Amino acid sequence: MTALVWFKRDLRIDDHQPLFQAAKTGAVLPLYIIEPDYWQQSDVSLRHWQFVAPALQQLNRQLTALGQPLLVIKGPATAVLRRLCRQFAISSVHSHEETGNLWTYQRDLAVKRLLHELNIPWQQYRQFAIFRKLADRDNWFNLADNWLKSAPAPAVTRLAFVTDSQWDLSELAPHRKTDLPLCTTVQNANAAQDTLSSFLQLRCVDYRRHISLPAKAVHSCSRLSPYISYGQLSLRRLQQQTFLVSKHSTEQRRQQGLQAFFSRLRWHCHFMQKLEDEPAIEFFNMHRGFDGLRENDFNPALFQAWQTGHSGYPLIDAAMRSLLATGWLHFRARAMLVAFASYHLWLHWRPLALHLAQCFVDYEPGIHYAQMQMQAGTTGINPNRMYNPVKQSQQKDADGRFIRQWLPELRQVPDSWLHTPWLMPAALQQRYACVIELDYPLPIVDLQQAQQHARARLSQWLKQHDKLHWQQQKQAVFVRHASRKRPVAKAVLNRQQLSFDW
Ligand SMILES: Cc1cc2nc3c(=O)[nH]c(=O)nc-3n(C[C@H](O)[C@H](O)[C@H](O)COP(=O)(O)OP(=O)(O)OC[C@H]3O[C@@H](n4cnc5c(N)ncnc54)[C@H](O)[C@@H]3O)c2cc1C
Repeated sequence: MTALVWFKRDLRIDDHQPLFQAAKTGAVLPLYIIEPDYWQQSDVSLRHWQFVAPALQQLNRQLTALGQPLLVIKGPATAVLRRLCRQFAISSVHSHEETGNLWTYQRDLAVKRLLHELNIPWQQYRQFAIFRKLADRDNWFNLADNWLKSAPAPAVTRLAFVTDSQWDLSELAPHRKTDLPLCTTVQNANAAQDTLSSFLQLRCVDYRRHISLPAKAVHSCSRLSPYISYGQLSLRRLQQQTFLVSKHSTEQRRQQGLQAFFSRLRWHCHFMQKLEDEPAIEFFNMHRGFDGLRENDFNPALFQAWQTGHSGYPLIDAAMRSLLATGWLHFRARAMLVAFASYHLWLHWRPLALHLAQCFVDYEPGIHYAQMQMQAGTTGINPNRMYNPVKQSQQKDADGRFIRQWLPELRQVPDSWLHTPWLMPAALQQRYACVIELDYPLPIVDLQQAQQHARARLSQWLKQHDKLHWQQQKQAVFVRHASRKRPVAKAVLNRQQLSFDW
């Protein structure tokens, strides 16, 4: 009996339920498929591959040490699986459940049909606190809590040898015709454990103080996101470890840091559950009352200035250019980039989402689309946050360290002008080698006018909609997606009345 374990975004052997269950049945064939069509999707980029490729090498070393190397094959999943199932007389297929984009969902449906046709059972196991076919969010908190506290899968200590595996990732690497430039420095895919240890032992102490400061967040945030997104770390194990370290810690700042981190790990699942419950949020507004609000106002010049880091607002541009170079940003900067583009530039969130998905090495569709909509103000249940990029700059990067690091053209500009360089007199622009419109752009929009415009458009939009219907739609979003520890009073909600077509 040979069982096939299909590795997807779970590139580890620790707490790996599919591997453990497959190994119980006999020999195991571990497989990763490089699917050419996946790598052509508009939310994917080769920056993701920059991280995945070394992660695969590491997984292969771990599996080889257990006795059976990893097979890495390029091709459509259905074709690859059909061939391997025949060649190795596969008796069952095991994998983690995936909450991905529409493409991976449809691919999974095709695989399901194939395995059904071949009469081979496909066992899928939970990898996050995400529950399929959940009626609403009433009981999610308890379900998540129980699952996150449950025992990790036992370790697999040996695999029977099935077949040798020779592959060369430089030959198998996916290709794209046009793409963003690769990251100049990307997180080390082989450093998951070191990054975790340094955070739990040292860096967590400054986590809360530095989490929104661009120059410091880069060191004091956990930096675990890509390891979680590609499954090199088990989120369940991570939660349990964090809890233990926090419990045994006597230092207040460490405890506070770990508690803040602990709740963010739960947010991870909370946000992913939204996409699981409503895959349409990848494309459509969560509150459909916002349909039409921004769709017809798309200004390609504003979009281009934003996406390349040439908006004329130093903190916005430094954030974007740092992201383009490294593939990572802390939460506040991500939120600010999206809010600025959504309100001040009045751009629809969908093209913004695709650009950022390609930029983020840790791209996780479940978190990404729900967060995009939250920051763009289209959920209907979260307050609208219109960040003022100048105030943010003065507060969060007062000494200009972050701005000067990423905007070389502003390096000589003194602190007093750094956050508003366009206000510098012409003589100073010459003196500090930063002539506006020559070395650095004028702001692409006037801040005050843009804020007023956004507020006016929003209030006009709300006025022209039927209040009762709007509230009903809002309630429907709340029932389906909002986090809560207690069930909502269902008596006041008439479900039929609340449901609307997606
Ligand atoms: C518009 C937007 C898009 C985002 N897209 C992604 C994405 O594609 N992938 C991704 O991993 N995160 C995304 N985030 C959430 C967050 O910004 C990143 O998880 C975080 O910056 C990663 O750095 P870290 O691991 O050092 O985070 P830490 O602050 O150390 O947090 C630890 C972990 O908790 C989870 N987490 C933290 N903040 C959030 C949050 N607000 N919502 C959900 N989970 C969270 C992540 O798994 C993160 O790795 C997005 C946020 C915004 C505003």
